Amino acid sequence: MACEERKLYGLDRLRETLVVAEATAKTMRANRSEETGLELRLRRALWAAGLRGYRKNDRRLIGKPDVYVPRARLCVFVHGCFWHGCERCARKLKPATNRAFWEAKITRNRTRDAEVRSMLEADGYRVLVYWECEVKERLEAIVAEVLTATAG
Ligand SMILES: [Zn+2]
Repeated sequence: MACEERKLYGLDRLRETLVVAEATAKTMRANRSEETGLELRLRRALWAAGLRGYRKNDRRLIGKPDVYVPRARLCVFVHGCFWHGCERCARKLKPATNRAFWEAKITRNRTRDAEVRSMLEADGYRVLVYWECEVKERLEAIVAEVLTATAG
């Protein structure tokens, strides 16, 4: 009987693990597609506003900026609110499961973001960072800021 109980307990644990894994995968998928969409929206808006000669995700630069304008040495990043820990969106984006896992991951991303920024700036690049919620809410103003930064 004791053995049978242990077996049942083991199955419960397994089931729980699978449910958590599925929830994690869902959260990752949902947030990844969102982030990609907003980088694309910014690039399209910049193109429509007449910006030319930029590169996307240039691997030669640390952090692979979403937009890099060589003539202005300007790097533009769009940070996903979930992955990079936007404080404005933190409450509504908190996942219900695996909180410790996500918090550790987001903290690592934020540390990395800060390192990337200071390394680029130390190398003489200008860096603009926007949250995806900002891209949604004030795209025109962001486009104007980027254009100004490339002009001067
Ligand atoms: Zn946000």
